[in-house]
Amino acid sequence: MRNNALVVVDMLYDFIDGSLACQNAENAVAQTLKYIDSQTKGQGGEEHEILDTFPILFIRDHHPADHSSFKEFGGIWPPHCVAGTHGGEIHSDLVPYVSEELTFDKGCDRTTEQYSGFEGVNYAEQSLGEVLELLDTTDVYVCGIATEYCVRNTCTDLLKAGYKVHLLKDCIAYVDYEGHLKALEEMASEGISIE
Ligand SMILES: [Zn+2]
Repeated sequence: MRNNALVVVDMLYDFIDGSLACQNAENAVAQTLKYIDSQTKGQGGEEHEILDTFPILFIRDHHPADHSSFKEFGGIWPPHCVAGTHGGEIHSDLVPYVSEELTFDKGCDRTTEQYSGFEGVNYAEQSLGEVLELLDTTDVYVCGIATEYCVRNTCTDLLKAGYKVHLLKDCIAYVDYEGHLKALEEMASEGISIE
């Protein structure tokens, strides 16, 4: 039997219109909402029933203010997604679909850069990988920001863990267009389905 889940990577304000704003971000959020809507059509149920059959998991980059990925502390990025700030929040249009148990934080430890959301943890310290297993997931649909970094690393880890990975190409944003295209090509060659 096939069990689908959607993983939304880092659709956070700093990556949308903040310190690390990415290309196509607003559009990717709009397309993601459209996709979620398309999955709810024809089932005739209320929203919570649909969420039971199509769980939506959210990944958040979630850093302390002195994170080692920030330029000031030896990293390559401007400060972003500091826990408790607006920049670290999920886009408000997506908030109706967010639940505590299906929200996974990464990069919480000052010294660790974590592009992949696979080992991100929820409030109960369960990892995304563990929860997908509990949900009996077979197929993971992925959208989010940014193609070349967190989307890419999350997809690769999902594939390694044995999931069928579907990347929603209209629902992703990127740092650099050429880099985006290159990452898509590489992911396709690894066996990730670009849809
Ligand atoms: Zn980060």
